[in-house]
Amino acid sequence: MSRENKKKKFDKGYFQKHPCLDPFTCRVCGRSVVPEGAGTDHRNHCPYCLSSLHVDETPGDRRSKCHGVMDPIAVWVRKNNEWALIHRCRICGKLSSNRIAADDHPMKLMALALRPFAGEGFSREGLARMSRHMDVRDEGRP
Ligand SMILES: [Zn+2]
Ligand SMILES: [Zn+2]
Repeated sequence: MSRENKKKKFDKGYFQKHPCLDPFTCRVCGRSVVPEGAGTDHRNHCPYCLSSLHVDETPGDRRSKCHGVMDPIAVWVRKNNEWALIHRCRICGKLSSNRIAADDHPMKLMALALRPFAGEGFSREGLARMSRHMDVRDEGRP
């Protein structure tokens, strides 16, 4: 075991101060994920299926004992126009917000962003009806 690996093992806060450069195999889609191309020091989710693992209590600390698969459930836009993903753990339900990486699959992100509109409750007619209602309210304003 190299000295650097030993340090990783014993220093619990290691990944908060150092970029995680280990390639890993995604537990959900099985693709191997390399750190290069992420544009961030902490690649915490798979760029292909956007799934993550529950390994952190707070970002980068690797202290969680849960290790459940975290499904991407939503995207949102931060104040600085940066996109972020919301992940929810399949086992314990923990929610976490993560910056997207430069090479995250753009169609996957779009699909996630549009998911609420693709569901049963959101037909085109439903949307049209809703916007008509909003028009009516606008007209009613002084
Ligand atoms: Zn994956
Ligand atoms: Zn969990």
